Amino acid sequence: MSATPAIADADHAESPLQTSVQYVKGVGPRLAERLANLDIHTVGDLLQHYPNRYEDRRDFTALSQVRDGDVACVSGQLIGVATKQTRRRRMKVTTAVIMDDSGKAEMVFFNQPWLQKILGRLQGREICLYGKAERVAGELSFRAPEWEELDADADSLHARRIVPIHGATEGVTPRQLRRAVATALQGYVTLVTDPIPASIRDQRQLMLAGRALFQIHFPDSPELLEKARRRLVFDELFFLQLAMAERKRQTATVLPGIAFPFREGWLNELTDQLDFELTDAQERCIHDIQTDMAADHPMSRLLEGDVGSGKTVVAAAAILGAVRAGYQAAIMAPTEILAEQHYNVFRHILEPLGVSVHRLVGSVRAKGKRLIKEAAADGSVDLIVGTHALIQDDVEFQNLGLIIIDEQHRFGVVQRLALIDKGAIDRAPDVLVMTATPIPRTLALTAYGDLDVSVIDEMPPGRKPIVTHWKGPHQRKSVYEGVRRLVEEGRQAYIVCPLVGESEKVLARAATELHDHLSNQVFSDLRVGLLHGQMAGHEKDEVMDTFREGDYDVLVTTVVIEVGVDVPNACCMVIEDAERFGLAQLHQLRGRVGRGEHQSFCVLLGDPKSPEGKQRLQVLERTNDGFEIAEEDLKLRGPGEIAGTQQSGMLKLRIASLIKDQEILHEAREAAFKLVEHDPGLQAPEHAELRAVLQTRYGEFALGGAA
Ligand code: ADP
Ligand code: MG
Repeated sequence: MSATPAIADADHAESPLQTSVQYVKGVGPRLAERLANLDIHTVGDLLQHYPNRYEDRRDFTALSQVRDGDVACVSGQLIGVATKQTRRRRMKVTTAVIMDDSGKAEMVFFNQPWLQKILGRLQGREICLYGKAERVAGELSFRAPEWEELDADADSLHARRIVPIHGATEGVTPRQLRRAVATALQGYVTLVTDPIPASIRDQRQLMLAGRALFQIHFPDSPELLEKARRRLVFDELFFLQLAMAERKRQTATVLPGIAFPFREGWLNELTDQLDFELTDAQERCIHDIQTDMAADHPMSRLLEGDVGSGKTVVAAAAILGAVRAGYQAAIMAPTEILAEQHYNVFRHILEPLGVSVHRLVGSVRAKGKRLIKEAAADGSVDLIVGTHALIQDDVEFQNLGLIIIDEQHRFGVVQRLALIDKGAIDRAPDVLVMTATPIPRTLALTAYGDLDVSVIDEMPPGRKPIVTHWKGPHQRKSVYEGVRRLVEEGRQAYIVCPLVGESEKVLARAATELHDHLSNQVFSDLRVGLLHGQMAGHEKDEVMDTFREGDYDVLVTTVVIEVGVDVPNACCMVIEDAERFGLAQLHQLRGRVGRGEHQSFCVLLGDPKSPEGKQRLQVLERTNDGFEIAEEDLKLRGPGEIAGTQQSGMLKLRIASLIKDQEILHEAREAAFKLVEHDPGLQAPEHAELRAVLQTRYGEFALGGAA
């Protein structure tokens, strides 16, 4: 490789990594602009744009050896190109023929007439191509394969090696990316030192960072590629876990917590007035929480439990503990409906015990809000249930000791912190995060790695598992007949309208149309209600109250009912166009039924086109176990898609896979937590670089609280 500096001088860059990518030799402003579409702005971004896959171009398969259906990498001399217009379908078809020592192959492209000129120029040259082969009557062809010229004077970047294929975009070819990455590697790699301490590197047998970068882009062998990948996966997960470890340490040490006193038998007060016994799992979780609350470090605990597992009573126990110790508590819920629901439920459980409960949501009138805020500030209210209205600046508490955040995945870490800031000045409040999204363990370690975890892994007794059926749209009529039969038996049903778009407006319109259709035609003799996100708060309340009291037989709704709503007599749910929903979301929705004594049903109406889509619906038919569903979801869709966890901004994993790399995740977590234990705050001089990298990647989250 040449010795010319590959990265031009840029005075302002703090580190060569942060140099704008346009200064990489051969890139320039125009290509840089297009690279921005790939979110590549700096040299560092470019080097972390890891290949999507690799082609082993050390050896090409001989054309005669390629069988029908093979995905093959072949090469040959381009011996002819032609473009024809098909008459009937007005399609332009470009066909090129290549030849090697053993045979011939065609490549075929549709409606890309410009290829005629490009390929025309390459007549007689060697090209390689990659794609799925078809062999019909002995003739070999590739439909729209990826292809590239193998120019003879090329260095070894594009051929005769394992070649990286980087994810490209319009106006940027994999070839250009490959060239840019190679140039950046040359200029940059020698300038970095490895942020991971040598002791950890040795112990975990990790390749050096610079070498790993080289090998991930231009591997010398499959073995080295694997080692490079392992190093980079470790790197990514290690820093993530380091952030978690630091965050956790700070929560525990920056401010002392409150040591809530608990009297012997304190819980009886609550359990005596329940008409059921706590499950063992609920008792265990309450015990975990009590232990945390009684200690003088602030609690940061995640309470995980599938829909219907009974998180509410556990939360109520925590609140009672705080209030009896003379503190206030706050619950933050992601939607008004859910806040309202919590408000009713907690009032029902706690008011008989003399706990005063208020609610603070967006739709409460100004005057009411003022009164509630006053009550919070002067300490005359014990529990406030609210939405994010709670974290507004003018909300102050006299003595906030416990914060419960429901459905954490809807909030970001930042909101969590904003509410924590409302705690008493000299003591950090205890925080309990509740989530009904069963999170696979690996994901919990990453998304909530700074929290301790309690799991309600047992359903209240006597629940009949929900029976779920997947039906095609042509069976809709018989499904509606089934709904009618249940209504005649005195039950109620939800009909969830399709997820037609992102916008609440569009959803509301779809729900209204479905409601019109059902109430005027299919169920014209039944009482059909409508609930959607565009309705005013009090309208929603009215609808839910009417439904709860049994005065609607059928409720047409959007996903606004996804969380928390609890009507035991509703034991049937029909989900329209079920394939449009995510697996976890369907499970959440389904959790609205199966809450009473009657057998419940869920019908997924859907016609998924893809195999994954079909698998998803089958998973739901097969199991009611939220954790199993979450694991399947993770497998089918990948972590970024799991119910909003990406909102926490923590899961932008570039290379690690939470499915494939669980073992490395555990290693990385162990190493990171050990390191923080030995060097809290990463103050040791030899950890300066580590700290700097952590700051760059997770600044606000990891090092925010440290002075
Ligand atoms: P979630 O975990 O989804 O928030 P809830 O707390 O809303 O679940 O509880 C669901 C239903 O189960 C409620 O009607 C609640 O009263 C009931 N429930 C909770 N715990 C028990 C129990 N140990 N035994 C019987 N029913 C229970
Ligand atoms: Mg709940």
